[in-house]
Amino acid sequence: MEISANVHCLALGSVNCYLCLEEGGLTLIDTGMPNQKDSIFNYLARIGHTPAGLRRILITHADIDHAGSLAEIQAATGVPVYAAAETAAYLARGQGPPHMPRPVQFLANRFVRYTPVPAGMITLIADGTILPILDGLEVLATPGHTLDHHSFYSQAHGVLFAGDALNTRPGRVQLTPKAITADMTAARQSALRLLRLAPAIFACGHGQPLQSHNMDDLMALMHTLQ
Ligand SMILES: [Zn+2]
Repeated sequence: MEISANVHCLALGSVNCYLCLEEGGLTLIDTGMPNQKDSIFNYLARIGHTPAGLRRILITHADIDHAGSLAEIQAATGVPVYAAAETAAYLARGQGPPHMPRPVQFLANRFVRYTPVPAGMITLIADGTILPILDGLEVLATPGHTLDHHSFYSQAHGVLFAGDALNTRPGRVQLTPKAITADMTAARQSALRLLRLAPAIFACGHGQPLQSHNMDDLMALMHTLQ
């Protein structure tokens, strides 16, 4: 689904990834769960593109539902991966960062794994990096849900790729649930930072992207965060 000019949302079951289609090549933001490469490549075919057109992959954070198919897609296309240093360390281990209640986290550490991506394949980005995507895509450190979390914002297009720093599951913008948040104080600060950008479009990892949002809802959320 096209959510803004040349920006597509791919709903991969419970999680979204995003595609920016530009003349310089395609950018994929996040990669869904393991075994979702074909779904992503099929979507590309449906909109008249091929995996050969892919130029780079950006990762918001190293959770399995965002980095699960990264290794497969990277291996099939050979494109560079852009991620923050903390994220890159988890990607190289094929294991997500901790953000769950202790007993669940214990099980996750043992059993929830995805194919790792060698550190050498990853180009490091950090808060303030501007990428040549959508007329300047800014990297924003947005820790909270996980401590390695980063969001991406194009001021020129008003599009915010918020990963799991926010979600739109109930049809409005909200914080990711506390039960799966590593640091609630940081999550609140990150959410405030993103809301203050006043993006036209909230493109989150979970929930339908919001193109028209109710200003009252946003203000109410900001008040609870401040
Ligand atoms: Zn997620």
